[in-house]
Amino acid sequence: MSGREIAVSKVDVGPAEEELVLRVLRSGQLAQGAMVAELEARIAEIAGVRHAVAVSNGTVALEVSLEALRHLEVVRAGDEVLTSPFTFVATANAIVHAGLTARFADIGDDYCLDPAAVAERLTERTRVLLPVHLYGLPADMTALAPLARERGLFVVEDAAQALGATVGGRDVGSYGLGCFSLYATKNVTSGEGGVVTTDSDELAGLLRLLRNQGMRDRYEYLVVGHNYRMTDLQAAIALGQLGRFEATNAARRRNAERLSAALAGLAGLVLPAEPAGRRSVWHQFTVRVTEDAALDRDELAARLGEQGIRSGVYYPRAVFDYGCFDGHPQVVRDPAPLTAAVARQVLSLPVHPLVGDDGIDRVGAALRQLLDA
Ligand SMILES: *Cc1c(COP(=O)(O)O)cnc(C)c1O
Repeated sequence: MSGREIAVSKVDVGPAEEELVLRVLRSGQLAQGAMVAELEARIAEIAGVRHAVAVSNGTVALEVSLEALRHLEVVRAGDEVLTSPFTFVATANAIVHAGLTARFADIGDDYCLDPAAVAERLTERTRVLLPVHLYGLPADMTALAPLARERGLFVVEDAAQALGATVGGRDVGSYGLGCFSLYATKNVTSGEGGVVTTDSDELAGLLRLLRNQGMRDRYEYLVVGHNYRMTDLQAAIALGQLGRFEATNAARRRNAERLSAALAGLAGLVLPAEPAGRRSVWHQFTVRVTEDAALDRDELAARLGEQGIRSGVYYPRAVFDYGCFDGHPQVVRDPAPLTAAVARQVLSLPVHPLVGDDGIDRVGAALRQLLDA
């Protein structure tokens, strides 16, 4: 191994987080309180909407969003949610737990839902369109949102990886219900945490009820609810992180540009691109290692690992190909050839703010040496 290890993601907490967490510890108010309210106000602002509802994690954000739509009878048991097959397992789990059927349309070269594939895969049972903004890049919402409107579909965004990203100048999380994650590997973290964003007063009210046992006033339970609350300790960590949000986003962008320049022109390597009008928050910097490369994806990852450079495969197969969904009646295995192909080729390289110029240069040089053979 040459040089220090370069992780593919790294938690960055500093004095700001320490100070805010200490303030919570000393306040005696550890559960949901003023810090959560402040975090909600900040995230609503970032997503460009009126309401943000903090919950325990990003998976719960998806689950409670779909449950709220069931309450309002926007969707009924057995209705279909159309989503991307190239996503984290939580997207599909949430659909199944909401009593809905998961259907899938293939992705495009941007690794997000392909609007043309979506149009083809809609049925009379489709009620919700659930795009995933993968790797921090927004899905093509300028095509998907009008399509959803025409077909009367409600939009739930899996924006777990994309806090702060924009499409055509519009913030992700503003198209219906936006689901964000504050898990430890995400761009902004609270350890565990999630947030739902919406412009709808009705949905925000219902989400707040569902989060807190269905309770309006003490012992007045309007719906059968949950405990999906976030603690003020978690909110304090995320607020500390958000104090540096612009700087960390800028650092990710700078790293992505530097790495793109370092890797330009290598045979068999497809670099990530930002399609016109879409602004990524560079949660991951993901390359495709094609048949034309000197090494295949897994060999390349192993050789980088020998040099202390960590990488990640997000994700190794279409989500419906995991064993837990084998023969599952609520998961339809729709063909997705591009997803199947890229799942064997994608490799995410370190791009987080702590990599530094020297780290980026080491990653670039290592890939050039391994692939320029
Ligand atoms: C992280 C993530 C989730 C789940 O969020 P958690 O906070 O881990 O529950 C859902 N979807 C995607 C695409 C994610 O990356």
